[in-house]
Amino acid sequence: MTVQQDAPNGGDAQDLEVWIDQDLCTGDGICVQYAPEVFELDIDGLAYVKSSDDELLQDPGATTPVPLPLLQDVVDSAKECPGDCIHVRRVSDSVEVYGPEAA
Ligand code: SF4
Repeated sequence: MTVQQDAPNGGDAQDLEVWIDQDLCTGDGICVQYAPEVFELDIDGLAYVKSSDDELLQDPGATTPVPLPLLQDVVDSAKECPGDCIHVRRVSDSVEVYGPEAA
């Protein structure tokens, strides 16, 4: 998996969102260790994203905004995810910037 090392333009308020492909999630919980504010394991043993008000979004492939202070933790989760199933993309054009489909 190739992950861009350069952070997105820090001074630019570039809005990012993250989603998980539950079909590939192994349920190991690495993402939850990195960013418990963003990821949580549901009772089905798979990881899901949480909304900004801490609500678990149980729809497969649901997206949630990535708070800038948590960006590095979310990027590290995507790098370490054994399922290669954490996708971080720009809100503006849905281009993946971190994750298995990032350029
Ligand atoms: S790190 Fe990836 S495979 Fe592991 S629980 Fe999180 S989303 Fe699933």
